[in-house]
Amino acid sequence: MKYSKLFGKTIKESPKDEVSTNAKLLLRGGFIDKLMSGSYTLLPLGYRVKEKIEQIVREEMNKTGAEEVLMPLLHPKAIWNETGRWESAKEVMYQFKKDDKDYALSFTHEEIVMDLVRKHVSSYKDFPVKVYHFSTKFRSELRAKSGILRGREFLMKDLYSLHDTEEDFSKYYWEVSDAYLKIFKRIGLDAKIVEAGGGVFTKNITHEYQVLSDSGEDTIYFCEKCDFAQNDEITEVKEGDKCPKCSLAGSGQADVIKVGKAIEAGNIFKFGTYYSEKMNTTFVDKNGEKKFPYFGSYGIGITRLIGIAVELFNDDKGIIWPKEIAPYQVHLVGLNKKADEVYQKLLDEGIEVLYDDREGVSAGQKFADCDLIGIPIRLVVSDKTQDKIEWKERSKKETELISLEKTLKRLRI
Ligand SMILES: [Zn+2]
Repeated sequence: MKYSKLFGKTIKESPKDEVSTNAKLLLRGGFIDKLMSGSYTLLPLGYRVKEKIEQIVREEMNKTGAEEVLMPLLHPKAIWNETGRWESAKEVMYQFKKDDKDYALSFTHEEIVMDLVRKHVSSYKDFPVKVYHFSTKFRSELRAKSGILRGREFLMKDLYSLHDTEEDFSKYYWEVSDAYLKIFKRIGLDAKIVEAGGGVFTKNITHEYQVLSDSGEDTIYFCEKCDFAQNDEITEVKEGDKCPKCSLAGSGQADVIKVGKAIEAGNIFKFGTYYSEKMNTTFVDKNGEKKFPYFGSYGIGITRLIGIAVELFNDDKGIIWPKEIAPYQVHLVGLNKKADEVYQKLLDEGIEVLYDDREGVSAGQKFADCDLIGIPIRLVVSDKTQDKIEWKERSKKETELISLEKTLKRLRI
């Protein structure tokens, strides 16, 4: 992609009405545009990051046997009345009237999946059902101040599973948990599994995937020696307490509980048969008996992950994208005409490259834009580099002069 042709360029000044690091850097880097508080357009650069994240999530979801679908965002009131959530989730749901009928904009899809299953599934042989989609969610937010970490409208991957036995459900629940950990690892995030409350979804204990960050809105209590971690909504431990899990295990010394700010990257919910009973979704089991299926849902915030990555990986110059989700592999800075040839060679090799081909823009300005945009590798072609190319990684200070051949070889790995 030639930078001169790219829609959405860098902005010098930090936007005055944004307080969060992710919004400031994404707006300045030309990744997003703000329509109103909590509502952003993904510009071409931001869209590419979204596509990379989605693909990682899709691959890991498919490995669990889940199938991709796409469900509607406009829902009739009647379906929400079946579970009572038209009233109980009123605060988070956008509800409105049109031509004397009541509608809601989707903030989740449990009711819709339940309706699908009761129409399409009748026998134990049809289980398990595992469906997911990538779609927009609408949530009424009074304080939308965290950039794309907390929007009124955002992208999410939500998976739903139904099972004929509790055993099969529990097995799959932890399989999805493992898939989540793989996803976060691939993106370069170190996520903790944290026990939490279920909000407008369930009264059961749920599991959140939390990434430690000073800009986080959540507070978690955790042990560094074992996997004990709880959200402040439900925890009974205090900072400095002996870890209840290590103490129980009795093997050596228990560690002390630490407290930290964290950002929620995903969550998984066990509903049991609550929703199937409410919506009268049944199946016939092996013995010919009518049963309610076990139900779970599993969410990952896609646009939120973009925000988390920026909050975690940045410096005073801009973003430092993890390789797997960077919009391009390489940022080529052309300071003479020879750069055109290098650009073509990179394209021929199938390398994703953003080529700063602008004329009349200083080298200093081009380098500053590279640092702000945060693509992992910067290549410079100039009169000074002669027949070599300057190689610099965004996360490092040093530069190297290497041949085109060597450059291509490194990029292929
Ligand atoms: Zn512990």
